[in-house]
Amino acid sequence: MGIRVSHLTKHFGSFLAVDDVSLEIPSGDLVAFLGPSGGGKSTILRIIAGLETADSGSVFFDEENADHLHARARGVGFVFQHYALFRHMTVMQNIAFGLRVRGANHTQQTARVQELLALMGLRGLEERYPSQLSGGQRQRVALARALAPEPKVLLLDEPFGAVDAKVREDLRHWLRRLHDEVHLTSIFVTHDQEEAFSVADRVIIINKGRVEQAGSPEEILDQPTTEFVARFIGEANVYQATVQNGIAHVGALPVSAPGITDGTQATLVIRLYDLKFWRDDNGMATVVRTMTLGDRIKVEATIDGAGTIFSQFPRRSSLLKGIEPGVRIHIEVTMARAYPSG
Ligand code: ADP
Ligand code: MG
Repeated sequence: MGIRVSHLTKHFGSFLAVDDVSLEIPSGDLVAFLGPSGGGKSTILRIIAGLETADSGSVFFDEENADHLHARARGVGFVFQHYALFRHMTVMQNIAFGLRVRGANHTQQTARVQELLALMGLRGLEERYPSQLSGGQRQRVALARALAPEPKVLLLDEPFGAVDAKVREDLRHWLRRLHDEVHLTSIFVTHDQEEAFSVADRVIIINKGRVEQAGSPEEILDQPTTEFVARFIGEANVYQATVQNGIAHVGALPVSAPGITDGTQATLVIRLYDLKFWRDDNGMATVVRTMTLGDRIKVEATIDGAGTIFSQFPRRSSLLKGIEPGVRIHIEVTMARAYPSG
């Protein structure tokens, strides 16, 4: 089922939490709401779910206005970080809960539960209680419970927030695989970029109650439309510079800044992997130190007249030959984004 949100606004007291948000999620898509904490992601999700009422604006499911539909009538499945399993019920009873409420008979319940146990890799655990499960298993039971009544939309709010890094990664794979099998229209909220980019087809960046940008992970990484998105996604070097003849001068480092008016200030955002350098006694920068980050090396250098620049390369990159503290280097920026300052 497709979802369309049109001009949603929501205040909490005088605080504007959702500021004229419109977005569209085609049927069958897996979309991430990504952004800093407090940006309004959960509030938008809760309005879509019918758990919160907007001040103005509308939610449509397949072009049908859902504004006056009760949460239970929306055909939505939820998984929330703090929406715990029923502790006094077994895995089986937890998953069957929504079916029982809807009056499914015993045979129907058993068949559906077995199907979900298989889908979520939970076979053999049906008689366990939540306390006898690992964090990852618990979240998979929560997913199975949400899916049991065959919702038309699945909404997940930081579903993997409470588990450790390794389990979190397993759960991402589960969610992606699940989606590839079931193709249920799904939105999941996260503040973790890696999670958003590795799982979702499309990412919607939300900040201060507004949609900053919506697009594929590649579009958002390579064509950030706002300075906020450019800074928020991935590590980057950020400079203020004046543009002359399409070139911004970051101290002694020239950087191409197309689209910026000559003589004006620009904010330049340069990703750590969008530059090259080599040893050159006549270069414009000095290496300060190198740091090993597992399979990558991060290099800190100082540009004459502009301060620090960071870069990152695969550990065995030939660009790192002869790079050590104190050597002079020539830097070439292969790609930068420029935004008018102010
Ligand atoms: P996110 O999920 O992006 O972290 P939220 O949607 O939870 O953001 O919150 C957006 C803003 O609205 C925050 O500043 C939060 O404190 C505020 N807020 C959310 N829910 C309520 C509420 N029920 N009452 C008052 N303020 C709220
Ligand atoms: Mg939230």
